[in-house]
Amino acid sequence: MKAAIFKGKGTIAVEERPKPTVTEPTDAVVRVVLACVCGSDLWFYRGISDLPHGGVGHEFIGVVDEVGSAVGDLQVGDFVIAPFSWSDGTCRNCRHGVQTACVHGGFFGQGGDGDGGQAEFVRVPHADGTLVTVPAPASGEEFSDETMASLLALTDVMATGYHAAVSAGVTEGMTVAVVGDGAVGLSGVLAAKLLGAARIVVLGSTTESRHVLAREYGATDVITVRGSEAVEQLQALTGGFGADAVLECVGTKESTETAFAVAAAGAVVGRVGVPHDAEVDAEGTFYRNVGMRGGPAPARAYQPDLLRQVLDGSINPGKVFDLTTDLDSIAEAYAAMDERRAIKALVKVSSLR
Ligand SMILES: [Zn+2]
Ligand SMILES: [Zn+2]
Repeated sequence: MKAAIFKGKGTIAVEERPKPTVTEPTDAVVRVVLACVCGSDLWFYRGISDLPHGGVGHEFIGVVDEVGSAVGDLQVGDFVIAPFSWSDGTCRNCRHGVQTACVHGGFFGQGGDGDGGQAEFVRVPHADGTLVTVPAPASGEEFSDETMASLLALTDVMATGYHAAVSAGVTEGMTVAVVGDGAVGLSGVLAAKLLGAARIVVLGSTTESRHVLAREYGATDVITVRGSEAVEQLQALTGGFGADAVLECVGTKESTETAFAVAAAGAVVGRVGVPHDAEVDAEGTFYRNVGMRGGPAPARAYQPDLLRQVLDGSINPGKVFDLTTDLDSIAEAYAAMDERRAIKALVKVSSLR
């Protein structure tokens, strides 16, 4: 099979690899239909974080190609979405909705062989606990490209944005600040809107296309300056108090500082950006009663509900994809995201039928 292989800083190649097979009775093998490149893939692509050279990609949807003898809920031919991590669905942490901390869990696309989603096939451990089956469309109908893109967005960015909003405790009528206007930040805007936010302020870049989508998803204000200037503008919009809930969707030192600086007294920062050199001020947050929750999103916990909302047309999280390539051209997808020419790249791998 063909697979995207990370070969070192700035280099993604498409190479032939052995097709993965079921190795544990709880495994399934999925034929990938759509994959995509994640903002977090850029950390290793840019050489900022270490990753062994090998198979990459943790966002994919596809069709079950093979199941192990202990798999009970899935059949060959099922159309499935995967979260970016696998989990057994049965341990204490899974039962408490923290599937990304599953004692038998792991993350796709960590440089191994056969576990990367940017490939024609991927092995899924603990398939029953991990995969979510997409019900077939009404007879004679097919999923539109828009629906397929939105299903793909549930594998990570939409679930992650939703986790930020849930972690921040967004409720009806709140003023919410979203730090970051990448695919996760934009998904966070959509999630904050779903949870009833009255005012949503995005603190992001100067890229116009991102503002357009942010406003379509429910943003009321966009701040394009950074650091203390951004904090001042947010304070001016909120009568000097700050936001009732804050979604941190980047993970850098500056974005983390901004997130805590714009939080109103008693607010919670829901953080989903993978921290890179970020620090939290224990004393400053103490005196303002500012809290912090979040981490790797338990996408699996949110997917059944978000899937229903995609299929009934109430959300379109797939609009974050603004570039489409095929697997052979995936290096261009990485380059476009690295150079900020694209918000998020969708990779067509095979057809659904
Ligand atoms: Zn991702
Ligand atoms: Zn578990």
